[in-house]
Amino acid sequence: MNSDGTYEQLLDSMYTKLPKTTASGERFEMPKFEFFTEGNKTILKNFKAVIEKIRRDPAFLSKYLSKELAVPVEVQGDRLILQRKLTGDIVNRKLEEFVNKFVMCKECNRPDTHIEDLGHRVRNLICEACGARKAIR
Ligand SMILES: [Zn+2]
Repeated sequence: MNSDGTYEQLLDSMYTKLPKTTASGERFEMPKFEFFTEGNKTILKNFKAVIEKIRRDPAFLSKYLSKELAVPVEVQGDRLILQRKLTGDIVNRKLEEFVNKFVMCKECNRPDTHIEDLGHRVRNLICEACGARKAIR
């Protein structure tokens, strides 16, 4: 069954951070995973919704989480299953790192970006708002 205590704590922590303000004054709210643990697994319930919000390749984000958290992952419908019981809010800290690295424009701090894949592991983050290009790794 779900561990409700952990989930309640998560809900509390979700409202402690204020959304970032972008250059134009529009609010960008950092997406958050809603998750629960089941046995030895951690299930990110809204993986697909987060992907749609940040407009990145689901495989890119799932591989990032797998590598950063050192756990095997599996996409199941709208969910991402992490094959380990993770406590605290580490998945959302990793998501925030990912968004800051691979979504937010460093010049204008807007999330309106896409990734240009040049092959040979060379990728640029292109900002659709201000036109900035930045190499990412
Ligand atoms: Zn920009």
